[in-house]
Amino acid sequence: MREENTAINRRLDYINETMQDLSFGKEIRIMGMGDMLLSWHGKLMGKKQSLFTRERKECAGGELLQILLAVLREALVYGYLIYAVWDKGVSIADFSLYFASAMGFSKMLGMFLAHYEAFRLDAACLQDMRMMMELPEEEIGAAAPRLSDFVGKSITLTDVSYRYPSSMRDAVEHFTYTFVPGKRVALVGENGSGKTTLIKLICGLLEPDSGTIFFGETDGRSLSGWARYALFSTVFQDINLYAFTLGENTAMAETYEPEQVKAALSCVGLAEDKFPKGLDTMLRKDFDPQGVELSGGQRQALAIARAVYREGAVMTILDEPTAALDPLAEQEIYLKLDSLLQNRSGIFISHRLASTRFCDEILVMSEGALVEKGNHENLMAIGGFYARMYAAQSSFYQKEGC
Ligand code: ADP
Repeated sequence: MREENTAINRRLDYINETMQDLSFGKEIRIMGMGDMLLSWHGKLMGKKQSLFTRERKECAGGELLQILLAVLREALVYGYLIYAVWDKGVSIADFSLYFASAMGFSKMLGMFLAHYEAFRLDAACLQDMRMMMELPEEEIGAAAPRLSDFVGKSITLTDVSYRYPSSMRDAVEHFTYTFVPGKRVALVGENGSGKTTLIKLICGLLEPDSGTIFFGETDGRSLSGWARYALFSTVFQDINLYAFTLGENTAMAETYEPEQVKAALSCVGLAEDKFPKGLDTMLRKDFDPQGVELSGGQRQALAIARAVYREGAVMTILDEPTAALDPLAEQEIYLKLDSLLQNRSGIFISHRLASTRFCDEILVMSEGALVEKGNHENLMAIGGFYARMYAAQSSFYQKEGC
């Protein structure tokens, strides 16, 4: 019953959060999803209510039994003491003493049973806590190698494969490639070809089923999660803005180097002087009615500024970083990024093949496998996947007159 209750509470929390999240507001209003959310909320509250009633009914049986036993116990004690006064000459003073002792004992027994019941319930909750505490812990810092150990080192994938537990086929299949420092690599392929899974494997968010990922000569498995995450600066498609200041949102830290944050922001066209309080401008309106809400393009630009600011990372991964930007802003960012990334490796995932042309090498994935690699000219000459995708996109742009 506790698990059922937890599942209901989770769903209720999700619906409450969704209804309060401003970023869902437009879609909920325009698509008329309010009724649907309210109906889900109502149904879940109904389930919660019936679960509560069921729980009370189950407990009521035990509680009733306890009360009956207490009444019986006291009736027996009372009866025996009255009999003792009546028949065995026990004095009234002794009667009072025995009676008070018996009642005290009975009360303590009741309290013991009540505490035992509460203890049983708490122990059940503690069981979850114990299970969580027994999960293998990620080593933070203990044997963490220094970031500087990896600067200038390659990242090599040898025969890496991965399949999601629920899936019938590998999402990444026998992938072998070496990412060399300073080299810009584009990762292209149809939806579902395994690009995001490959990135998760490189970052250590997933572990390969077979094959190895080497950072320099170090096997990725020997790096603890945090040590490994620190090697990357990433821009994913789903960008989160926090209700913190512009500076904190860029540095992703409470303390930061203002000049470097300003440089990262101006690189992506978000000069801090465009904001009323500069780096101290609050983003979102959760805690400050004057807080600034960024447009889709500005959010994406801020995410890129985060990646630029993150020092020490050996690889920058940009997953569709410019999809919400207009082509001119995109072009400008790519030109600047190239110099800002300096000697880091860079992986760019993009659906717009034209935006991958500034990369040194293009990797084409299909059904989890690396099927083609080379620069734009080589791949066009091969006339394979890439050439077909490029031709399809070019004809679309020509038709649209772009
Ligand atoms: P891409 O980024 O190229 O669109 P993905 O790496 O997201 O491709 O997906 C590769 C394959 O793995 C797809 O078939 C997709 O359905 C599957 N997949 C992705 N994420 C999961 C998941 N969490 N659980 C099960 N299958 C997944």
